[in-house]
Amino acid sequence: MSRSRLLYSLVLVLLVVIPFMASHAQKAMGKKVPVATEPEGDKETPPAAESKPLAPWQTLSGDGEPTTIRAVRFGASSRSPMSIVKRGNLAITEGDMVVGSYEHVMNAISKESVIRDPYLKWPKVDGKVVVPYKVHPSLPRQAQAALQQAIAEFNAKTCVRLIPQTREKDFVTVFFGQGCYSYVGNIHNGEQELSLGQGCEFKGTAVHELMHALGFYHEQSRPDRDQFITINFQNIGRGMESQFDVCRDCTTQDIPYEYASIMHYGAQAFTNNGRDTMVPKQRGARIAEPYDKPGLTALDVKKLHKLYQC
Ligand SMILES: [Zn+2]
Repeated sequence: MSRSRLLYSLVLVLLVVIPFMASHAQKAMGKKVPVATEPEGDKETPPAAESKPLAPWQTLSGDGEPTTIRAVRFGASSRSPMSIVKRGNLAITEGDMVVGSYEHVMNAISKESVIRDPYLKWPKVDGKVVVPYKVHPSLPRQAQAALQQAIAEFNAKTCVRLIPQTREKDFVTVFFGQGCYSYVGNIHNGEQELSLGQGCEFKGTAVHELMHALGFYHEQSRPDRDQFITINFQNIGRGMESQFDVCRDCTTQDIPYEYASIMHYGAQAFTNNGRDTMVPKQRGARIAEPYDKPGLTALDVKKLHKLYQC
């Protein structure tokens, strides 16, 4: 082989090998890039300053327009439409409920498979509903205090016992993520995350997110909600109308609709002009954000006890 021919072959080989190696290096590096579900602020100290309360829907910064999927909700027997927004690698519905990883949800839809097991409750031990939890080191002090107040409320008023996780397989990790959100129910997947991010460090918010983790949806998506509130669609941000979809197949548990429920969003949820998006049909009634509420109402406790048969 002539010298120039050898040189030519060498160049050809390098031309093929270098991009190949580069793409592999990128993939390997890509694996190390933290995904959005992973706690943020691991290394940085989270802000300690007083933060302005944010409602869960205000922390929603979805990537693009919502997509409507059909999913089986906790406690429901059939699939109903659910509007999801992509946030990082999570699929979120109604501002603060995690449906699953976006990729998983999208794959499940294309395969027409069911998104979730509809009956995922926490186990009962000696008549108490046991929810093991872990506090991630990323959680700022203020959020930790809010979480502890919420836990004290559950432990005092209900049959739910939030206990520090030791050997239990399924548990909730509370961390400082992007916004306030939780999975609905026990997803039976080992560790499941509950985020109390910036603006979420309030007792009411912590109680609200823990109620999601216990298996509850929003009060304003109950099948009977149109008898109690008027939705002003003209005040809702574009593309966000579907966040007010009613869960037709969800049960009301034969418990009255309640504006004061910790699971009811505030009157301005998803507003795009500062005006109310939800108007109570009952005169003089006020609908506050979860962070503005003292905690569980008597009816919230009743719902919980009915679901878990306490
Ligand atoms: Zn919520």
